[in-house]
Amino acid sequence: MMHQPAARYIGLDIANGTLRGARVNVAGRSLARNDQPLAKTSVEILVNQLVSAVHAVDGTGSEAASAVGIAIPGVVTGNKVSMSANLSLLNGVPLADELTRRLGRPAMLENDANAAALAEAWQGAGRGGKSVLYISLGQGIGSGLVMNSQIWAGPNGYAGEIGHVQVEPAGAPCGCGLRGCLETIAGAAGWVRRAKTAMKNRPTKLQALNLDQAAILKAAEEGDGVALEVMDETARALGITLAAAIGLLNLDRVVIGGPAASSMLLERVVIEARQRTLPRAFAECQIKLSELNDGACVLGAARVARTGTRFGSAPSEYR
Ligand SMILES: [Zn+2]
Repeated sequence: MMHQPAARYIGLDIANGTLRGARVNVAGRSLARNDQPLAKTSVEILVNQLVSAVHAVDGTGSEAASAVGIAIPGVVTGNKVSMSANLSLLNGVPLADELTRRLGRPAMLENDANAAALAEAWQGAGRGGKSVLYISLGQGIGSGLVMNSQIWAGPNGYAGEIGHVQVEPAGAPCGCGLRGCLETIAGAAGWVRRAKTAMKNRPTKLQALNLDQAAILKAAEEGDGVALEVMDETARALGITLAAAIGLLNLDRVVIGGPAASSMLLERVVIEARQRTLPRAFAECQIKLSELNDGACVLGAARVARTGTRFGSAPSEYR
């Protein structure tokens, strides 16, 4: 007998030091929200906080959520976080099982960038696309891939690790152990490293500022030459990587989000990607800024709660 799904789902997002929670209906409309600082001193404290965050947004009777999805900053394999750099206390913890037991309803995990990709493909800048890549630009580079309305995570959860695609064979060492990865150029540390080098020989307003990604972004918008050069190099690295992804996957939507995304960078990325992609493939691909921004992960997590699968047997249309 077919299980009749209830019509309320809860998404949680523990990606950026804040625990965001929302209960949504089948259309993804938010019915209740709750944001609080994330406690991450121990697994037990974190699990308790996740349980209370669910109760904070849940309804009663037919308004109660039937399932919970959680967006995690790390690689998710099945019901476990198999690798999280930012929340290492979760490594190897069967978090989904523990939350399912405590909440009395299914709890599912998903990588944060995958969740954001799903949300953008469903309701954001990627809607209408069949083959959607989401890239988050910030400290690091996150990305998620949605094919035919479902997350493509790969058999071990590593799909979409576009930040560690090599762009410069003899480039800077990356935190992953490789060299010249996209992240070494387009990640925050790469911006600061190149700005510092360029500042040695040229005047720049960055000299008077606390040098970080936000300062470089602002200086570029004000026309600072050094900051603009950092943006151009970032756009070039992104353009090279996107051209490969568009050609390989026939992407029809690319969505760029995260704190370092800007319309100025987007314009440059489009130019760099266009000149490296087969014209017919490029013509079918829209490259846009995120529309859901900070709300993407929590909405995607709720969507994961609703569908319960990454790929495989579920229907491939949003309903
Ligand atoms: Zn790397």
